[in-house]
Amino acid sequence: MKINLISDTVTKPTPAMLKAMYSAEVGDDVFNDDPTVNALQAKAADMFGKEAALFCPSGTMTNQIAIKCHTQPLDEVICDHFSHIFQYEVGGYAFNSGVAINLISGTNGKITKDQIEAAIKPNYDWLPRTRLVVLENTANKGGGSYYTLEEVRPIRQMCLDRGLALHLDGARLFNALVETGENTLDWGSMFDSISICLSKGLGAPVGSLLIGNQDFIAKARRYRKVMGGGMRQAGYLAAAGIFALENHVGRLREDNLRARNLGETLRQQNWVSNVRPVQTNIVIFDLAPPFTAADFLKKFEEKGVLATAFGPATVRFVTHLDFTEEMMSRVVEVIEKLKF
Ligand SMILES: *Cc1c(COP(=O)(O)O)cnc(C)c1O
Repeated sequence: MKINLISDTVTKPTPAMLKAMYSAEVGDDVFNDDPTVNALQAKAADMFGKEAALFCPSGTMTNQIAIKCHTQPLDEVICDHFSHIFQYEVGGYAFNSGVAINLISGTNGKITKDQIEAAIKPNYDWLPRTRLVVLENTANKGGGSYYTLEEVRPIRQMCLDRGLALHLDGARLFNALVETGENTLDWGSMFDSISICLSKGLGAPVGSLLIGNQDFIAKARRYRKVMGGGMRQAGYLAAAGIFALENHVGRLREDNLRARNLGETLRQQNWVSNVRPVQTNIVIFDLAPPFTAADFLKKFEEKGVLATAFGPATVRFVTHLDFTEEMMSRVVEVIEKLKF
């Protein structure tokens, strides 16, 4: 049994999802003429109470387009130092948008209204102009931690007062919402734009959505095109996205629960020095010295379990749709028997 905990992006479409893809009605989406893409976009916009949405090949693209739409060159983006837009998007904020980044050291990838407000730059010719705040929910490098609406509300109000746009990198937003019970409409009302990934825990093979108001999405469409993201019969992929939103949201609770249980098992091992709080489907833990992530991954792989290094002595597990209860039992057994 091969078990892959590298990421929740490793899932393959289920037979039912493939069937939905196979029977999708398609057209040419560059001409706005793919009915399944249009249906997915309308569905996502409705879920968040926004006017429009845009289907893109990746979450990197939806985030990059959002930054591009919200800023001008010489502006600045405020985010946590763990943010995906800073860590894992090839420095695209500088390349695509010509903006600076102003990093905040938050807690497990989360930042507060006071931290953000203190980071806003005064208006001088020689400083970048603070223009955009990006929150990440759940916070990936933050160990899957999540914000509650109560935490976001003051940030939203401050951004309105200070004339800043607010974007949500919600790659794994639904992993948070199944825990808090909060709804997409309330989350939609907090942000100028939202990115969600269909290709993570939701189990679609490809795709992310950028959600916002009409003018914003009209602009975003042009940037998607110039980035090479205009796709033709993309309805086959959009059908997987619709299927995922209709069938794979509630079950994210199982992924979160398995991750919490993995965290508990790891905490009991003397070769683990620290497990970050597990709030959703990501488990990040540090190995007790002198063990390294490379040692651990090698031993783990010998037992048929794949994971990823998140630092020299830090390892990340991500649970997902293709990680079954049987696999869970096997991983717990491997952890409990592991000897260094
Ligand atoms: C995965 C991820 C993205 C987008 O990644 P792609 O691989 O480009 O789809 C964006 N933000 C976060 C927090 C992510 O985890």
